[in-house]
Amino acid sequence: MTDRKTGPATKLVHGGRRPEWRGKLVNVPVERASSILFEDLAELRASKPGHGRYRYGLQGTATYWALAEALTELEPGAAGTVLYPTGLASITGPLLSLLTAGDELLVPDSVYGPTRKFCDTMLRRLGIATRYYDPLVGSGIADLFSESTRMVVLESPGSLTMEVQDVAAICAAARERSIVTLLDNTWATPLLFPAIAAGVDVTIMAATKYVGGHADVMLGSATTTASYYERIQTAAWDLGFAVSPDDCFLASRGLRTMAVRLRQHEANALKVAHWLKTRSEVGRVLHPALADCPGHGFWQRDFRGSSGLFSFELAGDAAAHRDAFVDALNLFGIGYSWGGYESLVLPVDPQRTVSDPPARNLVRLHIGLEDPDDLIADLAASFDQAGRSP
Ligand SMILES: *Cc1c(COP(=O)(O)O)cnc(C)c1O
Repeated sequence: MTDRKTGPATKLVHGGRRPEWRGKLVNVPVERASSILFEDLAELRASKPGHGRYRYGLQGTATYWALAEALTELEPGAAGTVLYPTGLASITGPLLSLLTAGDELLVPDSVYGPTRKFCDTMLRRLGIATRYYDPLVGSGIADLFSESTRMVVLESPGSLTMEVQDVAAICAAARERSIVTLLDNTWATPLLFPAIAAGVDVTIMAATKYVGGHADVMLGSATTTASYYERIQTAAWDLGFAVSPDDCFLASRGLRTMAVRLRQHEANALKVAHWLKTRSEVGRVLHPALADCPGHGFWQRDFRGSSGLFSFELAGDAAAHRDAFVDALNLFGIGYSWGGYESLVLPVDPQRTVSDPPARNLVRLHIGLEDPDDLIADLAASFDQAGRSP
């Protein structure tokens, strides 16, 4: 463990690199294993699964523990981190471990689409009911609690529409009723929003995004307090969620540079977002650091910065040419996911059940590490080209 008082960038560099795991190397090596061999039966019978203990491949090797430990250190107040094969599994795993038939779950209307699908299909089939809430509800969440409410999911900012939530108010209201809270913190990472310190019980990340950072690994993490760690970790083993040590290695490698990458994503994205504000083709720019974004005040109050993902609205005639605009871009890849070093674009249509989307005709951008002036030139050329299209 690094000293608790060190800054987050120091923790990123030193976290999880225990000498007993890395020997004389800088990095903890890739330890691939299914079987672990014991000296004798007594040692096998005495073995227990858990962080830092070799038992069976499912429970990880040093490559896994090093990444988990580094992520735990980024969240003051956390007791441990469980790793999952995807970001989505880092949501479904904790939900399956903490909820029982008859329970009710509150989920923001701006939630990541596959999380919504899991709640509406598999959880419903298991007798767990989901109610969606306006992401800007704040302390008004207390009025939505029923006798069977066991859990509140938060995602801040929300997927596609970027509403920033009053995480502290929602978590305080939930804690008063012993309702567990789970935050999807993929956009901010603990560098921009340390969630456990803000009162969140379980904070998850699609490590696929900024932790990996290079669009070449799928991984998720759930970091949590002593009250929930054992239960969530045990459930992940019971479900058979193993994580490849090669993927852990790639994620650890990405983690070391996450602070510098995020600073550059932030600067580039802000430059592009402010430029978009000057264009007649653009309506609202839904970037948490800009005043157009619902919940912008909570971003100002709670966050240490912004990352590279935001959305904007196409206005007037430009809206009719959304697909032509996207197809005309050269430096932006068209595809799912984000958080890698490269820029991406997608037309997005948010799905809502209880609140209106704050904007229509949305385009989502992930701003990568290219020269931002080149990205701006590409966007300008695409606006011009789409405007000429029939
Ligand atoms: C991408 C994403 C996920 C899921 O991550 P995967 O690794 O692709 O499963 C979860 N939450 C948010 C907010 C995401 O953007």
